[in-house]
Amino acid sequence: MSNFGRFAPSPTGPLHVGNLRTALLAWGSAYTHGAQFIVRFEDLDQHNASRTHATEQLDDLLLMGITSCEVPVCQSERFDLYRDAIATLTARGLTYECFCTRREIAKAVAAPHGAQVLYPGTCRELTAGERAAKREVRPGAVRLRADGAMAAFEDYVWGAQSGAADDVVLQRNDGVPAYNIAVVVDDAAQGITEVVRGDDLLSITATQVYLQQLLGVATPRYGHVPLVVGPDGERLAKRHGAVTLAELADMGVSPDEVRETLWASAGQHGDVVDWNAVPREPWVAPWSHA
Ligand SMILES: [Zn+2]
Repeated sequence: MSNFGRFAPSPTGPLHVGNLRTALLAWGSAYTHGAQFIVRFEDLDQHNASRTHATEQLDDLLLMGITSCEVPVCQSERFDLYRDAIATLTARGLTYECFCTRREIAKAVAAPHGAQVLYPGTCRELTAGERAAKREVRPGAVRLRADGAMAAFEDYVWGAQSGAADDVVLQRNDGVPAYNIAVVVDDAAQGITEVVRGDDLLSITATQVYLQQLLGVATPRYGHVPLVVGPDGERLAKRHGAVTLAELADMGVSPDEVRETLWASAGQHGDVVDWNAVPREPWVAPWSHA
């Protein structure tokens, strides 16, 4: 069986140079480790996703020299797989219904800005009668009953990591499967052996690893890459100016120049990825403005 790396963008707009930098490391790392590489589209939120954006993203990846060795799958076409996994967990008593709104959760948890907010457990021990009453008001979401389980994993950038699994939402209250179950099911189904992505997902990884353990699937190696930011230190966004390949081309910056700059910014020189050389700090995109 071959090994696979992957890049899994949401097709909700053009990729920016932060996405492309992570994709280059994911691609380079897969080939460094003798793995093949696939692109997958994380389009659970179908309101903002489109085929046009997906096609444009593949075009931009190609300009970076990145191709998918399989036709990219779309999460929006795989709901049955995710629902099977949720049903498996539910049959084992590992889920519960949650009726909280975002606002109610925010009120129940006073977390410092930027810290990971764990679900406060409001609905964890509801009685059948309480659940029935709440269902009259609004349909419930389905959460993982993690019971504060700890999970550990290896990260190319951050080394040995461990954390508490959160009672994440597995199915939203509109019936749509949620990101954390979809990503775990897809990585397992596609034989993904290494996951390289932005380090904004580092804190949720323990939960995904715990889900892998519950579902009896392998845990990949992870590489959480520090984000690309604007000069104001905020995550790179449209307001920072030229952040996409098309915008940079308008400024006279070629895709090759972008690729070389991104590769060097990640501490890389040859074709082989040296994870020890990847900076641990966010990188300020040189083409951006405050
Ligand atoms: Zn709740």
